[in-house]
Amino acid sequence: KAKEKGRNDFQMFNADMKSTSINRLKLENELRRALANEEFVLYYQPQVEIESGRIVGVEALIRWIHPERGLVSPNHFIPFAEESGLIVPIGEWVLRSACKQNKAWQNQGYEPIPISVNLSMRQFFQHNLKGKISHVLEQTGLEPQYLELEITESMTMDVDHAIQSLLELKELGVNVSIDDFGTGYSSLYYLKKFPIDKLKIDRSFVRDIMVDPNDAAIVATIIAMTHHLNLKVIAEGVENEDQLNFLYQNRCNEVQGYWYSPPVDGNELEYMLNHGIPVASIAAAGE
Ligand code: C2E
Ligand code: MG
Ligand code: MG
Ligand code: MG
Repeated sequence: KAKEKGRNDFQMFNADMKSTSINRLKLENELRRALANEEFVLYYQPQVEIESGRIVGVEALIRWIHPERGLVSPNHFIPFAEESGLIVPIGEWVLRSACKQNKAWQNQGYEPIPISVNLSMRQFFQHNLKGKISHVLEQTGLEPQYLELEITESMTMDVDHAIQSLLELKELGVNVSIDDFGTGYSSLYYLKKFPIDKLKIDRSFVRDIMVDPNDAAIVATIIAMTHHLNLKVIAEGVENEDQLNFLYQNRCNEVQGYWYSPPVDGNELEYMLNHGIPVASIAAAGE
């Protein structure tokens, strides 16, 4: 409810923001203040292995707890942050906080799992990316195999530069996944060229797999392709049992979606790590 409210208020705010440069400056200042005053928080969405029902990873997703507007969704400020360049310091905050939290969970005795962090194109292409990430890993004590970076394929991306950056990330030992896979342009070209570990099938394909045979075919084909290419695969936006069964039958091993859990705060995530997710395994789901 707070989320809905925050979103609506902010959308109005955001529409105004777009109209004049003064308002844009205001939003920019608000975002700077948000960073300084620690108004951002991370939510975490479990990534679940279908067969076992186990949480095998979590994606960190930023939220803005705005002093007047409440919980603001990233869709309402990340695009502006990207445009204005503020995504770089915000993204650094996300990266550091996610690594710190993951290390803290390990120190508390939870079984180590990777944490995924969304990297915007600006961050991905920034100077000395490898050095910056390696610095954060050192500061937080997180081993690189427990960090996964999600990048979104983009039509305007400089492919050679991207390959160079990806190779540097590989050298560091972190994992890289392609987010929203299927929504970009030269996906197959990138797949062949990019040293990546995992594809995340975009929610827009998963949504209609039970009603649209084309989407079913696309999803089944992406999964089969990942097995041939030795890539990991995860389906985003799984909301019901039929979708889960379809994915399982088509050998997709991992899913992320409301069926298991929406993104939740750190305490709720810990609760799930301790007690498991209510609808645990495919066997339980099928009964
Ligand atoms: P994304 O990286 O593709 O993250 C998945 C989004 O799908 C999340 O939205 C999540 O809440 C939503 N989602 C997950 N399962 C379901 C489902 O079953 N049904 C539906 N309808 N939605 C589901 P969220 O948290 O609002 O984030 C939206 C986008 O904002 C993210 O998409 C990502 O592109 C961006 N974002 C979020 N946090 C960060 C961040 O720290 N840095 C950057 N650069 N971008 C971020
Ligand atoms: Mg993502
Ligand atoms: Mg994304
Ligand atoms: Mg996505």
